[in-house]
Amino acid sequence: MRKIISSISALAMLLALSLPIMSVAKSAEFFTIGTGGPTGVYFQVGNSVCKMLHKQAISAEHGRKKGTAKAYRCTAPSTGGSNYNIGQIKAGEFQFGVAQSDWQFHAYNGSSKWEGKQFGDLRAVFSVHNEPFQIWARKKAKVKDFDGLKGKVVNIGNPGSGQRGTMEELMKAMGADMNMFKGTTELTSSQQVKALCDGKIDAFGYSVGFPNGAMEEAATCAAKAMPINLTGGPVQGLIDGADYYAKAVIPKGTYTGQKKDVTTFGVKATFVTGANVSEELVYLVTKAVMENFEDFKKQHPAFAFLEKKNMIKDGLSAPLHPGAMKYYKEAGLM
Ligand code: GLU
Repeated sequence: MRKIISSISALAMLLALSLPIMSVAKSAEFFTIGTGGPTGVYFQVGNSVCKMLHKQAISAEHGRKKGTAKAYRCTAPSTGGSNYNIGQIKAGEFQFGVAQSDWQFHAYNGSSKWEGKQFGDLRAVFSVHNEPFQIWARKKAKVKDFDGLKGKVVNIGNPGSGQRGTMEELMKAMGADMNMFKGTTELTSSQQVKALCDGKIDAFGYSVGFPNGAMEEAATCAAKAMPINLTGGPVQGLIDGADYYAKAVIPKGTYTGQKKDVTTFGVKATFVTGANVSEELVYLVTKAVMENFEDFKKQHPAFAFLEKKNMIKDGLSAPLHPGAMKYYKEAGLM
């Protein structure tokens, strides 16, 4: 009898002990990817990554792929953009983020806006689409080039966005300061198009992939806006002076009423993380994107030209995270 009781209690104890362990093993681990405004392309990058990962996780849970120790779940909320995302990764609030190649460089090296705040533990995962830096102006404002912005009301972007920083770098290169404008606003990317269409601002600066629905709205609303060319010595100086900038062209016909190519300079959108994020998680995220690549590319027209071999090197100045490197080596990409 005593033996039975003791074995029953041993069983109960075993059950009590194993229940929480079992539920821990089954419960998912949540993480966050910082994106950009809801009408931008970063929002699609982050949410597409989550979609690919969840797809992979579902097939694992349904027994088609075994060996995934943990179930990971992610969310990719809209945020203030590049510099905000990098700051949140540094603070441990986000595990991943999308950021312009110029801000990846500056954060990792402690230059420009990141002077005195260097984030040496920033790690690269892959790069994504091209982001030409664009200044869109409403037709009636008659802005033909950078100098034409004198005396205009210009949205310079919200603090934390990549475009805000890149606009400031462009102003520096042009030897100009914000006083050249009649006024400036700090609207977010999702607010700026409405402001332009309503005639509240004359122009805005934005680094974003194309084609982009919000820019099509700017081209077709009452503003009949178009991006201006950003060329000439100072812009060429930016391109020649840094690996994270390149010449960029938005081909004619990309937007309604766009009769000519628009030439400017641009950056790459990149996917970044922190050195303290686990190798397992970064590996799984990288693998989910690379092994569902055709599906990933269909998630936004700006992804149509992505190629794996470029994604593992272009626009990356921080070291690759070991989890990403592990996948690239395993897949024979490196
Ligand atoms: N390049 C912008 C930024 O860094 C975001 C563009 C987008 O949301 O697609 O803030």
